[in-house]
Amino acid sequence: MEHRIADTLKILTEADKEACEIVRVSENEPVSSKKRLFIESYGCQMNFSDSEIVASVMREAGYATTSDADNADVLFLNTCSIRDNAERKVRKRLTELNMIKKRKPGTLIGILGCMAERLKAKLLDEEKMVDIVTGPDAYRDLPRLIEEAETGQKGVNVFLSKEETYADISPIRLNSNGITAFISIMRGCDNMCSFCVVPFTRGRERSRDPYSILKEAEELFRDGYKEVTLLGQNVDSYKWTGQPGIIAVSEELNVNSPTQVHVNFAGLLEMVALVSPELRVRFSTSHPKDITDEVLYTIKKHDNICKYIHLPAQSGNSRVLEIMNRTYNRDWYLDRIDSIRRILGDDCGISHDMITGFCTETEEEHQDSVSLLEYVKFDFGYMFAYSERPGTLAAKKFTDDIPADIKQRRLAEIIEVQQRISMERNQRLIGTIQKILVEGTSKRSEDDFIGRNDQNKKVIFPRENFKKGDYVNVMITDCTTATLRGYAVEKTPALANSHQPVS
Ligand code: SAM
Ligand code: SF4
Repeated sequence: MEHRIADTLKILTEADKEACEIVRVSENEPVSSKKRLFIESYGCQMNFSDSEIVASVMREAGYATTSDADNADVLFLNTCSIRDNAERKVRKRLTELNMIKKRKPGTLIGILGCMAERLKAKLLDEEKMVDIVTGPDAYRDLPRLIEEAETGQKGVNVFLSKEETYADISPIRLNSNGITAFISIMRGCDNMCSFCVVPFTRGRERSRDPYSILKEAEELFRDGYKEVTLLGQNVDSYKWTGQPGIIAVSEELNVNSPTQVHVNFAGLLEMVALVSPELRVRFSTSHPKDITDEVLYTIKKHDNICKYIHLPAQSGNSRVLEIMNRTYNRDWYLDRIDSIRRILGDDCGISHDMITGFCTETEEEHQDSVSLLEYVKFDFGYMFAYSERPGTLAAKKFTDDIPADIKQRRLAEIIEVQQRISMERNQRLIGTIQKILVEGTSKRSEDDFIGRNDQNKKVIFPRENFKKGDYVNVMITDCTTATLRGYAVEKTPALANSHQPVS
């Protein structure tokens, strides 16, 4: 059974590169004189985006990135604490990095991100080979911490800020395909879901200046990028008030007075969408309690805002949602889904996160999660067995009382249901033409290109004479649960309709 679960999860993970539990490694920069930095990043998109800020801070300090840990002067692991297995993975990797340090004394090892913040200086006691421990809000301090570590002292900074957004730092794109990029629009989270460690590791929620976001999007577009994903733990609660910036601000952005501008998430989406109709805009993650019809109408209004929403449910049962402290119930969640369908139609892609075996969850309550999947017909989902995290509200208030085998059985059940629904959702696109943004060559064959449609589904097709960054109309002929396959019909301008049924 365990093998089957792992296999199924693997299929889902391949369905979307940004899925949790992927590891990303920095690439070689073509310079010979500089000191070398190796960064390995674990966990969510936010962490990958943070590593790009770290690379930028380190470049200023004279470091170039490398993909070869053996040849690096500094080794960073940018870590995730969301589930216990994420932390175990990092501990295992640390023992491997320690071998490098033994072979090459003087190499520095740093733990960054959520695990650094959660464990703080305790990490230095537990993992003797670690020289530097830096939380998510302290990356500007890395050069100083390295200097400290070079003198033989340990460098620790886990200060959580209420203001830091790294707005002025231009990220260095790591593992970039040159076509799609992340833009971090806010940091932290104020929600306190009872199962979640994020509010403790990433601190209070704060939104980044919209003009710096816009500038980053414009620069990316100028550099040839065709898609940006706006990132935050809860993008719908984005809010910023301040002086108008360098662009002409339209009335739709809630201008209250000439000197004070209020920008909410709908306003920000609109600002970024107006950079160019050729630039696709995505965003993640939406929160069911906060996503508004105003946001949905903004998505509808702009063809280049992708019709795809990641709306984590976590459970389909109202009692479980209440003890998870999600602040919505099943009816509220379904009402939001109905609004998405009403405003954006049946073709809008929707995905979810779901947790099985949360404290006290009964078999009937688990069945409510299954029935939620059946009702919504999500395109795909990220599903997890509950993992108790020290310090969270759930760890303090409830007993982690669902045995591991039951959590895993429930997980296998929802994965199976989701796989069937994903297949159905993909099959309905066979015989339609989908507008694809080409991201690169398919891993399986040099002769094929891979890209994604509006709804974030991967599409593979023969490359012919197209190139990376092209928008191509592809006739869908076949699918798996995770991928669509087809052939190119024509190159298309970005604004062309993305979903035309063919008779
Ligand atoms: N901010 C996003 C939201 O509220 O939906 C999610 C952020 S979290 C990094 C990603 C997902 O990890 C969550 O949606 C949840 O499904 C899962 N997760 C978080 N804590 C977990 C835990 N203790 N055990 C299992 N899964 C967990
Ligand atoms: Fe965690 Fe909830 Fe915040 Fe998401 S909204 S990061 S699940 S506390």
